[in-house]
Amino acid sequence: MKTPAGFTELTGLQLGQIVKSMGEPAYRVGQLRKWVYQRFATSFSEMTDLPQAFREKLEAKMRVSSLEVLRTVTGSDGTVKVLFELADGNTIESALMYYDGGGEGTRRYTVCVSTQAGCAIGCEFCATGQQGFERNLTSGEVIDQVLYFASYLREKDKGHKKPENDKTGRVSNVVFMGMGEPLANYDNLWRAIEMLNSAEGFGLGARNMVISTAGLVPQIKRLAKEKLQVGLAVSLHAADNELRNKLVPINRKYPLGQLIPACREYNQITGRRLSFEYILFKGINDSIVQARRLAELIKGMKCHVNLIPANSTSNPSFQPPIHRVVLAFEEELKRCHINVTLRQRRGQDIAAGCGQLRSRFIQDARSRREKSILAGKT
Ligand code: SF4
Repeated sequence: MKTPAGFTELTGLQLGQIVKSMGEPAYRVGQLRKWVYQRFATSFSEMTDLPQAFREKLEAKMRVSSLEVLRTVTGSDGTVKVLFELADGNTIESALMYYDGGGEGTRRYTVCVSTQAGCAIGCEFCATGQQGFERNLTSGEVIDQVLYFASYLREKDKGHKKPENDKTGRVSNVVFMGMGEPLANYDNLWRAIEMLNSAEGFGLGARNMVISTAGLVPQIKRLAKEKLQVGLAVSLHAADNELRNKLVPINRKYPLGQLIPACREYNQITGRRLSFEYILFKGINDSIVQARRLAELIKGMKCHVNLIPANSTSNPSFQPPIHRVVLAFEEELKRCHINVTLRQRRGQDIAAGCGQLRSRFIQDARSRREKSILAGKT
């Protein structure tokens, strides 16, 4: 059996075999899982109720986490963004955001995780889409992003009084909205979700997790039949095929004529509301006519539209509209009886848009390499 890079990649069966092969009793499996998923240990040496010889054997065989931190940046709104290196040298980004609901105990910590290194969908406005696709993440690599921030929050709160509206200091929501198309990595994504949800794992409610998709129709239909009540967000960004073909190229394969019926079917089968994400780009998809077209498209669905002005630090061709235009678009949707929320982009000042930190890192690495080649020549 090839040992995975990280602990969380192991199935229960694999973990049981390793424990047995090291001459330890079966209950060690539960002890190990508790240390990793509930106490957020980052090394085997922390697991002080396990025999030292056993910990050393584990340490020699694998790492607790498959991720190494390359860069961390914190935005003025508290958003923390981390660039991780995977065991094979690929890089991914994740972010921790917090939201205050206004009352006591209403602070929520949301982790935005990546599911692929790069992305094959190639949305023109997205830094990740422009970097191309490297590979799917394993379920362990997905889980480790959540555990990293769980541990981060625990360390951050040590010795500090929590804000009044923060009862838990724990990760309260996970959104699969980072790099990659989650539904293109369905099996690994689902394995990660089951472990994050499981009582033996991270114990996070399924309803506190949201999968974001660019619109993979067969996988939306598959998701509708899953038992766990995970949320679904569809990145729409345009309400006609001509424009959506340009902004979200997967639309050429699964046009709106297939996507919207699949969403209606999801509504019917699950009884759950879904979200439509609509990033507003200045002069591209922000007119009143386009708002009406959007309302018409999703009329009668159990859904919610999240309007998100584009990130001003991203591609200069895809800038946010002025605020008045954003408000007019929102008003028009409301007038058409569509549930809508205007969301502010988090971490604007730290390039928290999908793939931007990684893109900068790749550019920096390239220029360092070029400089060292030049230096070698002189
Ligand atoms: S927006 Fe999402 S689906 Fe589109 S290229 Fe970026 S990561 Fe991929």
